[in-house]
Amino acid sequence: MSLLLSMLLAAGGCACPRPVHFVDLHGNELKSLEPCWQSLHRFFGEATPERITIGYTPESASSFSVGSDSITVSMNEWATNPAPIVAHESSHLALSHLTQGASATEPFRFLDEGLAEYLQHVVAGDLPAYREEALAVAAADRARGAISFAAMRSWQTCFGRPPKRNLRAYAAGASVVFFLVERWGEPKLRAFFAELGRTRDLDQATRAKIELSVEQLEAGWTAWLKTQRPAMTDSDEPLRIVRFSPAQGSKSVSAALREVEVELSSDMFGRAPLCLQTPCNDGLCYTEAYWKSPRILAVRAPKGLRAGTRYELRIGAAGCQIQSRSGEKLPVTEWSFQTR
Ligand SMILES: [Zn+2]
Repeated sequence: MSLLLSMLLAAGGCACPRPVHFVDLHGNELKSLEPCWQSLHRFFGEATPERITIGYTPESASSFSVGSDSITVSMNEWATNPAPIVAHESSHLALSHLTQGASATEPFRFLDEGLAEYLQHVVAGDLPAYREEALAVAAADRARGAISFAAMRSWQTCFGRPPKRNLRAYAAGASVVFFLVERWGEPKLRAFFAELGRTRDLDQATRAKIELSVEQLEAGWTAWLKTQRPAMTDSDEPLRIVRFSPAQGSKSVSAALREVEVELSSDMFGRAPLCLQTPCNDGLCYTEAYWKSPRILAVRAPKGLRAGTRYELRIGAAGCQIQSRSGEKLPVTEWSFQTR
Protein backbone atom coordinates (compact mmCIF):
# COMPACT_ATOMS: atom_id res chain seq x y z
CA MET A 1 0.00 0.00 0.00
CA SER A 2 1.40 3.37 -0.88
CA LEU A 3 2.31 5.73 1.91
CA LEU A 4 -0.22 8.31 0.70
CA LEU A 5 -3.12 5.86 0.64
CA SER A 6 -2.30 4.46 4.06
CA MET A 7 -2.17 8.00 5.42
CA LEU A 8 -5.59 8.74 3.92
CA LEU A 9 -7.04 5.54 5.36
CA ALA A 10 -5.53 6.30 8.75
CA ALA A 11 -7.22 9.71 8.67
CA GLY A 12 -10.57 8.06 7.89
CA GLY A 13 -10.49 9.57 4.43
CA CYS A 14 -11.18 8.15 1.02
CA ALA A 15 -8.90 8.38 -1.97
CA CYS A 16 -11.89 8.70 -4.34
CA PRO A 17 -12.89 12.25 -5.42
CA ARG A 18 -15.93 13.66 -3.67
CA PRO A 19 -18.79 14.78 -5.88
CA VAL A 20 -19.28 18.53 -6.27
CA HIS A 21 -22.93 19.51 -5.95
CA PHE A 22 -23.09 23.01 -7.46
CA VAL A 23 -22.18 23.62 -11.10
CA ASP A 24 -22.54 26.62 -13.39
CA LEU A 25 -24.38 26.62 -16.74
CA HIS A 26 -21.25 25.28 -18.48
CA GLY A 27 -20.95 22.38 -16.06
CA ASN A 28 -17.98 23.91 -14.20
CA GLU A 29 -17.85 22.69 -10.62
CA LEU A 30 -18.28 25.36 -7.95
CA LYS A 31 -16.28 23.76 -5.15
CA SER A 32 -16.30 26.81 -2.90
CA LEU A 33 -20.05 26.33 -2.34
CA GLU A 34 -19.71 22.81 -0.89
CA PRO A 35 -20.10 23.99 2.77
CA CYS A 36 -23.40 25.56 1.68
CA TRP A 37 -24.62 22.23 0.23
CA GLN A 38 -23.56 20.43 3.43
CA SER A 39 -25.66 22.87 5.51
CA LEU A 40 -28.69 22.13 3.33
CA HIS A 41 -28.00 18.40 3.51
CA ARG A 42 -27.94 18.51 7.32
CA PHE A 43 -31.55 19.71 7.23
CA PHE A 44 -33.00 18.01 4.15
CA GLY A 45 -31.04 14.76 4.07
CA GLU A 46 -31.61 12.83 0.86
CA ALA A 47 -34.19 15.35 -0.39
CA THR A 48 -31.25 17.67 -1.17
CA PRO A 49 -30.64 17.62 -4.95
CA GLU A 50 -27.30 15.96 -5.75
CA ARG A 51 -26.58 18.49 -8.49
CA ILE A 52 -27.80 22.07 -8.60
CA THR A 53 -27.09 24.27 -11.62
CA ILE A 54 -26.50 27.97 -11.01
CA GLY A 55 -27.16 30.67 -13.59
CA TYR A 56 -26.91 34.44 -13.15
CA THR A 57 -29.18 37.40 -13.79
CA PRO A 58 -28.69 41.18 -13.83
CA GLU A 59 -32.12 41.45 -12.12
CA SER A 60 -32.13 42.13 -8.38
CA ALA A 61 -34.35 39.12 -7.56
CA SER A 62 -32.98 35.57 -7.56
CA SER A 63 -35.20 32.59 -8.42
CA PHE A 64 -35.40 28.79 -8.65
CA SER A 65 -36.74 26.19 -11.05
CA VAL A 66 -37.80 22.88 -9.52
CA GLY A 67 -38.09 20.90 -12.75
CA SER A 68 -34.43 21.39 -13.67
CA ASP A 69 -32.98 21.65 -10.13
CA SER A 70 -31.50 25.00 -11.12
CA ILE A 71 -31.35 28.40 -9.51
CA THR A 72 -30.74 31.85 -10.92
CA VAL A 73 -28.78 34.21 -8.71
CA SER A 74 -28.70 37.98 -8.88
CA MET A 75 -25.23 39.03 -10.09
CA ASN A 76 -25.01 41.66 -7.37
CA GLU A 77 -25.29 39.05 -4.66
CA TRP A 78 -23.10 36.63 -6.57
CA ALA A 79 -20.33 39.25 -6.66
CA THR A 80 -20.49 40.09 -2.96
CA ASN A 81 -21.50 37.03 -0.93
CA PRO A 82 -23.05 34.16 -2.93
CA ALA A 83 -23.41 31.35 -0.35
CA PRO A 84 -26.42 32.76 1.61
CA ILE A 85 -28.58 33.44 -1.47
CA VAL A 86 -27.54 30.10 -3.01
CA ALA A 87 -28.70 28.44 0.24
CA HIS A 88 -32.01 30.34 0.06
CA GLU A 89 -32.86 29.39 -3.51
CA SER A 90 -31.58 25.81 -3.12
CA SER A 91 -33.72 25.41 0.00
CA HIS A 92 -36.77 25.97 -2.23
CA LEU A 93 -35.60 23.11 -4.49
CA ALA A 94 -34.92 20.71 -1.64
CA LEU A 95 -38.19 21.50 0.16
CA SER A 96 -40.08 20.94 -3.06
CA HIS A 97 -38.51 17.46 -3.26
CA LEU A 98 -39.28 16.77 0.42
CA THR A 99 -42.92 17.88 0.08
CA GLN A 100 -43.47 16.41 -3.40
CA GLY A 101 -44.09 19.87 -4.80
CA ALA A 102 -46.51 21.07 -2.11
CA SER A 103 -44.17 23.76 -0.75
CA ALA A 104 -44.31 25.80 -3.96
CA THR A 105 -48.12 25.93 -3.93
CA GLU A 106 -49.92 29.04 -2.70
CA PRO A 107 -51.10 27.90 0.78
CA PHE A 108 -47.65 26.68 1.86
CA ARG A 109 -45.39 29.31 0.35
CA PHE A 110 -45.13 31.18 3.65
CA LEU A 111 -43.45 28.11 5.17
CA ASP A 112 -41.29 27.66 2.05
CA GLU A 113 -40.02 31.27 2.22
CA GLY A 114 -39.72 31.08 6.01
CA LEU A 115 -37.48 28.01 5.83
CA ALA A 116 -35.44 29.49 2.95
CA GLU A 117 -34.81 32.60 5.05
CA TYR A 118 -33.88 30.51 8.07
CA LEU A 119 -31.33 28.39 6.14
CA GLN A 120 -29.99 31.44 4.30
CA HIS A 121 -29.03 32.97 7.64
CA VAL A 122 -27.68 29.68 9.00
CA VAL A 123 -25.25 29.74 6.04
CA ALA A 124 -24.59 33.49 6.40
CA GLY A 125 -23.64 32.90 10.05
CA ASP A 126 -25.90 35.70 11.31
CA LEU A 127 -28.89 33.69 12.53
CA PRO A 128 -29.19 35.36 15.99
CA ALA A 129 -29.28 38.89 14.50
CA TYR A 130 -31.75 37.81 11.79
CA ARG A 131 -33.92 36.06 14.39
CA GLU A 132 -34.11 39.21 16.47
CA GLU A 133 -35.18 41.31 13.49
CA ALA A 134 -37.64 38.79 12.02
CA LEU A 135 -39.38 38.18 15.34
CA ALA A 136 -39.64 41.92 16.12
CA VAL A 137 -41.15 42.58 12.68
CA ALA A 138 -43.54 39.61 12.89
CA ALA A 139 -44.56 40.44 16.47
CA ALA A 140 -45.42 44.03 15.50
CA ASP A 141 -47.42 42.87 12.46
CA ARG A 142 -49.22 40.16 14.41
CA ALA A 143 -50.05 42.60 17.24
CA ARG A 144 -51.83 44.93 14.82
CA GLY A 145 -53.59 42.09 13.05
CA ALA A 146 -51.68 42.48 9.77
CA ILE A 147 -50.66 38.81 9.65
CA SER A 148 -52.31 35.50 10.54
CA PHE A 149 -52.04 31.96 9.17
CA ALA A 150 -55.08 32.68 6.98
CA ALA A 151 -53.48 35.86 5.59
CA MET A 152 -50.13 34.14 4.95
CA ARG A 153 -51.75 31.18 3.23
CA SER A 154 -52.80 33.64 0.58
CA TRP A 155 -49.16 34.43 -0.13
CA GLN A 156 -49.65 36.54 -3.25
CA THR A 157 -51.88 38.89 -1.29
CA CYS A 158 -49.61 38.90 1.75
CA PHE A 159 -46.38 39.40 -0.20
CA GLY A 160 -47.79 41.46 -3.06
CA ARG A 161 -46.41 41.66 -6.57
CA PRO A 162 -43.37 43.51 -7.88
CA PRO A 163 -42.72 46.40 -7.62
CA LYS A 164 -45.07 46.63 -4.64
CA ARG A 165 -43.60 43.82 -2.59
CA ASN A 166 -44.12 43.52 1.14
CA LEU A 167 -40.78 42.20 2.36
CA ARG A 168 -42.15 42.02 5.91
CA ALA A 169 -44.02 38.88 4.77
CA TYR A 170 -40.68 37.00 4.74
CA ALA A 171 -40.18 37.83 8.40
CA ALA A 172 -43.69 36.56 9.13
CA GLY A 173 -42.98 33.21 7.44
CA ALA A 174 -39.58 32.94 9.14
CA SER A 175 -41.15 33.58 12.56
CA VAL A 176 -43.33 30.47 12.14
CA VAL A 177 -40.24 28.43 11.21
CA PHE A 178 -38.29 29.76 14.22
CA PHE A 179 -41.25 28.80 16.44
CA LEU A 180 -41.39 25.27 15.02
CA VAL A 181 -37.60 24.78 15.26
CA GLU A 182 -37.33 26.10 18.80
CA ARG A 183 -40.33 24.16 20.14
CA TRP A 184 -39.95 20.87 18.32
CA GLY A 185 -36.46 20.83 16.77
CA GLU A 186 -35.29 20.49 13.17
CA PRO A 187 -35.88 16.69 12.78
CA LYS A 188 -39.59 17.09 13.69
CA LEU A 189 -39.88 20.07 11.39
CA ARG A 190 -38.48 17.96 8.56
CA ALA A 191 -40.95 15.15 9.38
CA PHE A 192 -43.77 17.70 9.44
CA PHE A 193 -42.80 18.91 5.95
CA ALA A 194 -42.67 15.34 4.62
CA GLU A 195 -46.16 14.78 6.06
CA LEU A 196 -47.37 18.01 4.46
CA GLY A 197 -46.21 16.57 1.14
CA ARG A 198 -48.15 13.36 1.73
CA THR A 199 -51.38 15.01 2.93
CA ARG A 200 -51.25 18.49 1.36
CA ASP A 201 -53.19 19.50 4.44
CA LEU A 202 -51.66 21.75 7.11
CA ASP A 203 -54.00 20.58 9.88
CA GLN A 204 -53.42 16.88 9.20
CA ALA A 205 -49.66 17.42 9.09
CA THR A 206 -49.51 19.34 12.39
CA ARG A 207 -51.76 16.78 14.14
CA ALA A 208 -49.66 13.87 12.86
CA LYS A 209 -46.21 15.31 13.62
CA ILE A 210 -46.50 17.86 16.44
CA GLU A 211 -49.77 16.76 17.99
CA LEU A 212 -51.50 20.11 17.61
CA SER A 213 -54.35 21.28 15.42
CA VAL A 214 -53.42 24.13 13.11
CA GLU A 215 -55.51 26.47 15.29
CA GLN A 216 -53.53 25.41 18.36
CA LEU A 217 -50.28 25.92 16.47
CA GLU A 218 -51.34 29.43 15.45
CA ALA A 219 -52.41 30.29 19.02
CA GLY A 220 -49.07 29.01 20.35
CA TRP A 221 -47.13 31.02 17.76
CA THR A 222 -49.11 34.18 18.61
CA ALA A 223 -48.49 33.81 22.35
CA TRP A 224 -44.80 33.06 21.74
CA LEU A 225 -44.39 36.12 19.49
CA LYS A 226 -45.72 38.31 22.30
CA THR A 227 -42.99 37.04 24.61
CA GLN A 228 -40.36 37.67 21.91
CA ARG A 229 -41.26 41.29 21.32
CA PRO A 230 -38.41 43.47 22.54
CA ALA A 231 -39.93 45.69 25.20
CA MET A 232 -37.67 48.70 24.78
CA THR A 233 -37.25 48.89 21.01
CA ASP A 234 -39.91 51.40 20.19
CA SER A 235 -40.83 54.41 22.26
CA ASP A 236 -44.10 56.29 21.88
CA GLU A 237 -42.24 59.09 20.10
CA PRO A 238 -42.43 59.17 16.31
CA LEU A 239 -39.54 57.59 14.43
CA ARG A 240 -36.80 60.19 13.81
CA ILE A 241 -33.10 60.67 13.21
CA VAL A 242 -31.38 61.38 16.53
CA ARG A 243 -27.87 61.99 15.17
CA PHE A 244 -26.36 63.10 11.88
CA SER A 245 -22.62 62.61 11.37
CA PRO A 246 -21.46 65.03 9.97
CA ALA A 247 -23.99 67.27 11.71
CA GLN A 248 -26.88 68.70 9.71
CA GLY A 249 -25.73 71.96 8.02
CA SER A 250 -22.08 71.73 9.16
CA LYS A 251 -19.71 73.79 6.97
CA SER A 252 -16.17 72.55 7.61
CA VAL A 253 -16.31 68.79 7.26
CA SER A 254 -12.98 67.06 6.53
CA ALA A 255 -12.74 65.67 3.01
CA ALA A 256 -10.71 62.77 4.41
CA LEU A 257 -13.90 61.28 5.89
CA ARG A 258 -14.38 57.66 4.78
CA GLU A 259 -17.95 57.19 6.03
CA VAL A 260 -21.00 59.24 6.98
CA GLU A 261 -23.92 57.99 9.07
CA VAL A 262 -27.23 58.75 10.74
CA GLU A 263 -28.68 57.17 13.85
CA LEU A 264 -32.42 56.42 14.14
CA SER A 265 -34.57 56.49 17.27
CA SER A 266 -35.58 52.79 17.02
CA ASP A 267 -34.38 49.51 15.58
CA MET A 268 -34.97 49.48 11.84
CA PHE A 269 -36.19 46.87 9.33
CA GLY A 270 -33.01 46.36 7.31
CA ARG A 271 -34.74 44.51 4.46
CA ALA A 272 -36.90 47.52 3.57
CA PRO A 273 -35.51 49.43 0.57
CA LEU A 274 -33.26 52.33 1.51
CA CYS A 275 -34.30 54.68 -1.30
CA LEU A 276 -31.36 56.93 -0.44
CA GLN A 277 -30.75 59.64 -3.02
CA THR A 278 -27.21 60.88 -3.68
CA PRO A 279 -25.53 62.40 -6.75
CA CYS A 280 -22.78 59.69 -6.81
CA ASN A 281 -20.24 61.91 -8.64
CA ASP A 282 -18.67 63.40 -5.52
CA GLY A 283 -17.47 60.36 -3.57
CA LEU A 284 -20.78 59.56 -1.87
CA CYS A 285 -23.14 57.08 -3.49
CA TYR A 286 -26.28 55.23 -2.40
CA THR A 287 -24.73 51.99 -3.66
CA GLU A 288 -22.33 52.17 -0.69
CA ALA A 289 -25.12 52.50 1.91
CA TYR A 290 -25.54 49.76 4.51
CA TRP A 291 -26.98 49.08 7.95
CA LYS A 292 -24.04 49.29 10.33
CA SER A 293 -26.28 48.31 13.25
CA PRO A 294 -30.08 48.09 13.67
CA ARG A 295 -30.16 51.86 14.24
CA ILE A 296 -27.24 53.20 12.22
CA LEU A 297 -27.47 53.77 8.47
CA ALA A 298 -23.98 54.44 7.06
CA VAL A 299 -22.67 55.34 3.61
CA ARG A 300 -19.07 54.44 2.80
CA ALA A 301 -16.88 56.87 0.90
CA PRO A 302 -14.04 54.53 -0.15
CA LYS A 303 -11.96 57.34 -1.72
CA GLY A 304 -12.96 60.09 0.70
CA LEU A 305 -15.06 63.18 -0.05
CA ARG A 306 -14.31 66.05 -2.41
CA ALA A 307 -12.94 69.25 -0.84
CA GLY A 308 -15.02 72.44 -0.96
CA THR A 309 -18.18 70.60 -1.92
CA ARG A 310 -21.74 70.91 -0.69
CA TYR A 311 -23.36 67.48 -0.13
CA GLU A 312 -27.10 67.01 -0.26
CA LEU A 313 -28.52 63.59 0.56
CA ARG A 314 -32.15 62.65 0.69
CA ILE A 315 -33.09 59.74 2.94
CA GLY A 316 -36.19 58.14 1.45
CA ALA A 317 -38.26 59.23 -1.52
CA ALA A 318 -41.92 59.69 -2.33
CA GLY A 319 -43.52 56.25 -1.90
CA CYS A 320 -40.29 54.69 -0.65
CA GLN A 321 -39.29 55.26 2.94
CA ILE A 322 -37.08 53.42 5.38
CA GLN A 323 -39.09 51.84 8.16
CA SER A 324 -38.71 50.61 11.71
CA ARG A 325 -39.27 47.01 12.74
CA SER A 326 -42.66 48.05 14.08
CA GLY A 327 -43.57 49.37 10.63
CA GLU A 328 -43.27 53.10 11.23
CA LYS A 329 -41.92 55.04 8.24
CA LEU A 330 -39.32 57.81 8.46
CA PRO A 331 -40.51 60.97 6.70
CA VAL A 332 -38.32 61.83 3.71
CA THR A 333 -35.38 63.71 5.24
CA GLU A 334 -32.92 66.10 3.57
CA TRP A 335 -29.37 66.10 4.95
CA SER A 336 -26.75 68.60 3.87
CA PHE A 337 -23.22 69.51 4.89
CA GLN A 338 -20.15 71.06 3.30
CA THR A 339 -16.49 70.04 3.12
CA ARG A 340 -13.70 72.57 3.63
ZN1 LIG B 1 -37.43 32.68 -1.65
